[in-house]
Amino acid sequence: MFYMKGNLFVISSPSGAGKSSLISALLKRHNDMKVSVSHTTRAPRPGEEDGVHYHFCQVDEFKSVIADDGFYEWAEVFGNFYGTSKQAIQEQLDQGIDVFLDIDWQGAQQMRKIVPDIITLFILPPSREELENRLNKRGQDSAEVIAKRMQQAQSEMSHYNEYDFVLVNDDFDQTLDEFERIVLAHRLQTGNIESKYADLIRQLLAKS
Ligand code: GDP
Ligand code: ADP
Ligand code: 5GP
Repeated sequence: MFYMKGNLFVISSPSGAGKSSLISALLKRHNDMKVSVSHTTRAPRPGEEDGVHYHFCQVDEFKSVIADDGFYEWAEVFGNFYGTSKQAIQEQLDQGIDVFLDIDWQGAQQMRKIVPDIITLFILPPSREELENRLNKRGQDSAEVIAKRMQQAQSEMSHYNEYDFVLVNDDFDQTLDEFERIVLAHRLQTGNIESKYADLIRQLLAKS
C-alpha cells in the first residue's frame, strides 16, 4: 500500500523538549536524511521561512488540501491546523532518503495506521521546569502561547508509551548521539539489508 525505499521516522514531544533542534543537528551530520515540511495555519515565528520550516497557509487553503486528499495526516494542535502533505515526503522516500516527521501524537497515530513499520520516537524533557525554561529561552512565543503549550505538555507526554523509543533530552549531545544510533541501526534491519544487498544475498545463497 505504501512503498518506500527510504525509512520514515516520527518524532513527537511536548513543545520545547528539543525535537526540532535534534532533527536539524542530525541532518547536519547526514546528507541522505531530510525533514518533512508540514503545512500549518499558525503565523510564522521571527526567522521562520515559508517552504523551509513550514508551508504557511490560511485555513481555507488548508481545508482545500484536505478536500483534495492531499494529506497523509493532519491534526489541530494548540488551536492551529498542522498536516503532512503527501508531496512533502513521497518524492524523498522514493529517492531512498530517510525522512523525519516532527508531528504531534495525533499525527503519529494516523501515520502508524498507514505505515505499520514506521519508527516512532518520543522526546521527554528532564523536568517540567526545564521545559518551561526552554520555551522561555527560545524567545519566539508570547507568554500566552507558552502558558498554553505548558498546559498541553502533560497530555502530550501521556502518550510517550505508544512510541518505539523514548529519549530524555537532558544533555543535548548525548541525546543527539542516541538519536543517531537509533536511525543508523534501523538502516541495518534485515528488511532494509535485503533490498540493499539483494544481489549479494542471492550470490551468497546460490547452490554451488
Ligand atoms: P514546537 O512543538 O515548538 O516545535 O512547535 P511547532 O509549532 O513547530 O509544532 C506544533 C505541534 O504541531 C507539535 O506538536 C508538532 O509535533 C505538531 N506538528 C507539526 N507538524 C505536524 C504535522 O505535519 N502533522 C501533525 N500531525 N502534527 C504536526
Ligand atoms: P521543539 O521543537 O521540541 O519545540 P526546540 O528544538 O525548538 O524544541 O528546543 C526548544 C529550546 O530548547 C531551543 O531554544 C533549544 O535550543 C533548546 N534546547 C533543546 N535541547 C536542549 C538541551 N538538551 N539542553 C538545553 N537546551 C536545549
Ligand atoms: P510549532 O507551532 O511549535 O511549530 O509546533 C507545535 C506542534 O505541532 C509540535 O508539537 C509539532 O510537532 C506539531 N506539528 C507540526 N507540524 C505538524 C503536522 O504536520 N502534523 C501534526 N500532527 N503535528 C504537527
